[in-house]
Amino acid sequence: MTASSSAQLRLATVSAHLASSSADPVSSALETSLPPVQINRDTLSVLLDGEDQTWRNWMFDQLKDPLFEYKNNITKEEAVRLNQQRTRHLARIGFRPKWDEPKFKNHKKFLAISDAMSYYDNSLSTMGGAHYGLYVGSIRELGSDELKAKWLPPADTFEIPGCFALTELGHGSNPRGIETEAHWDTKQGCYIINTPNITAQKYWIGAAAETAFMSVVWAQLYVPDPSNKDQWQHQGIHAFLVPIRDLKTREPCPGVTIRNCGAKSGLNGMDNGRLWFDHVKVPRNMCLDKYGGVNENGEYESMFQSKDQRFGGQLVNLSEGRVGLSISSANLAKTALTIAIRYGQTRRQFGARHPGEQETLIMDYNLHQRRLYPLLATTYAQHFAARAIMRMRDVEDKDLKQIKQFHVISSGLKSLHTWHLLDTLQATREACGGQGLKSSNRIGHMKADCDVMATYEGDNQVMLITVAKGSISDFTPKKIPALATFNKARFQNQTFSDATLLSSEFQLELFQHHAYAASQRLAAAVEITRSQQTDKKQSLDSILDQHSALSQEFARAVVEHFILQELVRIEKESLSSSSVSPLTLVRQLHGLWKLDMDPNMVRRRYIDESVQERIRDLVGAAIHRVHENVDALVSAFGVPDHLLGPIAGDWVQANVVEGNQDI
Ligand SMILES: Cc1cc2nc3c(=O)[nH]c(=O)nc-3n(C[C@H](O)[C@H](O)[C@H](O)COP(=O)(O)OP(=O)(O)OC[C@H]3O[C@@H](n4cnc5c(N)ncnc54)[C@H](O)[C@@H]3O)c2cc1C
Repeated sequence: MTASSSAQLRLATVSAHLASSSADPVSSALETSLPPVQINRDTLSVLLDGEDQTWRNWMFDQLKDPLFEYKNNITKEEAVRLNQQRTRHLARIGFRPKWDEPKFKNHKKFLAISDAMSYYDNSLSTMGGAHYGLYVGSIRELGSDELKAKWLPPADTFEIPGCFALTELGHGSNPRGIETEAHWDTKQGCYIINTPNITAQKYWIGAAAETAFMSVVWAQLYVPDPSNKDQWQHQGIHAFLVPIRDLKTREPCPGVTIRNCGAKSGLNGMDNGRLWFDHVKVPRNMCLDKYGGVNENGEYESMFQSKDQRFGGQLVNLSEGRVGLSISSANLAKTALTIAIRYGQTRRQFGARHPGEQETLIMDYNLHQRRLYPLLATTYAQHFAARAIMRMRDVEDKDLKQIKQFHVISSGLKSLHTWHLLDTLQATREACGGQGLKSSNRIGHMKADCDVMATYEGDNQVMLITVAKGSISDFTPKKIPALATFNKARFQNQTFSDATLLSSEFQLELFQHHAYAASQRLAAAVEITRSQQTDKKQSLDSILDQHSALSQEFARAVVEHFILQELVRIEKESLSSSSVSPLTLVRQLHGLWKLDMDPNMVRRRYIDESVQERIRDLVGAAIHRVHENVDALVSAFGVPDHLLGPIAGDWVQANVVEGNQDI
């Protein structure tokens, strides 16, 4: 093959394929049900990332620096060092607001920068997330002005990196069970932090093994009982700022033991560590005591009576981390889909469809399209859901209802988005055949690095328990009057036109109905269990566990409804500037695909079998229309070439080089 640029190769193959697509029999059969659309790449790009993409492009340009060249087959020690260098470099070029900058000054700029960065690599995002999100975020949210002034400037520049030590060997999903202790020592006027047993060792702590000098350490606080000084009073979990390494020698501080968690099956650019504390003295002012701590008189005080409320307030940063994962999951899914679809547009297998033509492009096979395009449509949906949760996060002075909704939806989106990313990575890896396995083609590497996203910042299934618990009272007939009269009969024994099945009203109604129906079933099951139980104190958690299938179904239904609702909202908004929304097609495919594939929705038989069959036909029609517009749909994501592997470009030319070079 003669040398040609990747763009030329793509252009040539894509125009050849478009020229032949009018003869495709599937096209004419489905013409009437789903008319052709022409999606404009630029309009779509503005809907996705706004008119002004200066800062997004600035960040993408920064990632052209040789420091950010992808390095494969390096040791985990090298990967950590590289990750540190990259994080320090980003700090130097000012990729985030300074600690004392007002929260919403230059907000759009920094949102665009951090959004663009998340396309790059999950190890780098995780190092940034652990340091800036969890460590810096805890000091910023919970620390005194004195602590902020001292520790945040060197944290901003990554000169003094920190970590966030909540999880222990014995407790992960249930942080309330941690065993590390902090006792207030009245005589010495300080806290004493101690690891009482093996299971209390801090575990998986990001950046603890090699990078961090400081740690936000979470511990059960005990203070002397004012009425009996020989007794301890338990005040619940509190956070302390603790030096773990000497700033000059890098040796562990006295009383602190540090070990590496060892090689992992992915994310080796992140040095996860274990920490032990042997009666380490922590000055009174190093407690992050916004919600409670020992005052100057040596007395414990807190604005909350309940230990649970105190702890809940302190963990606000974890919700922020979940928002970050929802965004980066959608962005990494865009990267993987861009790679796989571009490869599919240039990769040929089997015979020509028509005499005299070349072999068929794999992207022209309906089966291949069915594997990738529904994922593409859902990625669009999740992009807008991630924007919605960012807006919820950025509401200043949220009332209690908003705080609860933010907590519930951020937990749910974290689960569904990270799972969608993992499904997308598996599908795109397979869609690239053997090439998908090569580290330089990125997807295999991303699979290994992103796997843990389903676990950290809250295990996905556990997050859905949070959604079920937090939403069950919101989905009652009283709260959604429009649905109170809603029942299966409304849909059953009815025929629906294609226009209805494709409409946002129908799809949204069915999604909402599903959430409502699932909630009704769950509520009824909870009620029956409560009425039968002899132990009246059985917790809602334990009752929900008895009905775990219903509880997970309900939680998913709530989150899926939120995602579709957001997509429809943006679709409608975009109609104001044009008679056809460039999002209608992806919304149709996303909605229909879920109606066709969601096992719970299908099992509950809201609609007749014949309608269900028609939905499957329409999925095929929507996939076909997506295929006609796939260049616009993919290029609107705007993932730059230097973040894609060689198979997204001229992969034949990339393989001209002989030998074992890393291509
Ligand atoms: C690479 C990596 C980086 C991390 N970084 C940090 C960090 O910087 N700081 C930090 O503090 N922590 C960190 N963590 C810890 C992370 O938050 C925990 O791993 C996570 O919360 C899950 O806890 P666990 O590993 O103990 O799993 P477990 O809680 O033991 O969960 C194991 C399984 O049990 C299931 N399960 C648990 N509870 C229930 C229940 N009630 N009902 C039904 N099923 C249940 C879960 O679904 C899961 O499948 C990190 C972890 C990893 C792997």
